[in-house]
Amino acid sequence: MVGSDAVQVRYRYRLYPAPGQQAALARAFGCARVVFNDCLRLRDACHEAGEKIADTAVQRRVVTLAKQTPERAWLGEVSSVVLVQACQDARRAYRNWFDSLSGKRKGRRAGHPKFRRKHGRQSIRLTRNGFSLHGGRLYVAKVGEIRVRWSRSLPSEPSSVTVIREPDGRYYASFVVERQAAPLPASAREVGIDVGLDRLAVTSDGEIIANPRFLRAKERHLARAQRALSRKAKGSANRAKARRRVAVLHRKVRETRLDHAHKTALRLVREDQAVYAEDLAVSGLACTRLAKSVHDAGWSQLLRLVEEKAVHYGRTFHRIGRFVPTSQVCSECGINDGPKPLSVRTWTCAECGAVHDRDVNAAINILAAGRADRLNACGGGVRPGSGLAAAGEAGTHRSAA
Ligand SMILES: [Zn+2]
Repeated sequence: MVGSDAVQVRYRYRLYPAPGQQAALARAFGCARVVFNDCLRLRDACHEAGEKIADTAVQRRVVTLAKQTPERAWLGEVSSVVLVQACQDARRAYRNWFDSLSGKRKGRRAGHPKFRRKHGRQSIRLTRNGFSLHGGRLYVAKVGEIRVRWSRSLPSEPSSVTVIREPDGRYYASFVVERQAAPLPASAREVGIDVGLDRLAVTSDGEIIANPRFLRAKERHLARAQRALSRKAKGSANRAKARRRVAVLHRKVRETRLDHAHKTALRLVREDQAVYAEDLAVSGLACTRLAKSVHDAGWSQLLRLVEEKAVHYGRTFHRIGRFVPTSQVCSECGINDGPKPLSVRTWTCAECGAVHDRDVNAAINILAAGRADRLNACGGGVRPGSGLAAAGEAGTHRSAA
């Protein structure tokens, strides 16, 4: 499906549906949500009863047969592509959870798929037979031709689109397209990065990449708005207003963080031939009670963007797939100095006396471990242009002090 030098990426654009189209979309979102939730309920019931159910049987019961009942007759008002895709989405969510339970799927344990909620983000997914592009507009079956703000041009014909209504009331189209890679000239630099809570990331060169300061302020506004929302009576007009305010602030925080992550990822990938990071699932941090703040801090977002850009620009992004006690080992002499509480920002190695910034030391260890991984993968050879090579020489790098 994907050519050797083409990558599948998403391109997102703002949509401006007319009032009638908004009503048609609301119907489609509602039907997709109900079908998705019905799929989960049916699969849960079968699972509890110890029965196996085929994917086609789920779709038949939740869509085809349901349409014939008075309670679900309105499913017939929307495009069947939307309903089929909702079944597929539910199937994938269920399978991820199952594979994660059985250990087939690596990484962070996936929870039971969440039921879609009326007040959350709404979406429908359409394959080629459910949408098309007409004279600058997006045609969606049974909705019509929707106005799009083309902030940049699509690199290729999209294979599918997700139409989204965010909780703040804005509409977006997210197209899946193929994009040709655009490799950059080789660079001799390589870098290890340690992602953190109070700092977004620290590099093995000693560079500290902070979370943008204005993000903190926006997060404080959001927290205040959330507290205000929790005090409003259920079902009241004031509650609806407060919910909308929370959604708008959410969008601002999200956009600010995403923009900063894009710029940071682009810079790292431009400057360095290879970027190494810990696999967060393996690092153990994502499983602790820090998990929520981990996600708020945007680690996974930054690493996802670095990975995406590395593919596009012909660079290497590598996650260390095994546990390495990066914050305990001295990057100068290699001795394990024992665990350090998170409050310890700098420490002195008992063996060689080197003074370390906790995060920079970890980043240097990540660089060394990443290089060792790659050397092993290449059968011990050093690829030309991969910069300096051998693992363990990390101590020769600039330190933060
Ligand atoms: Zn040491």
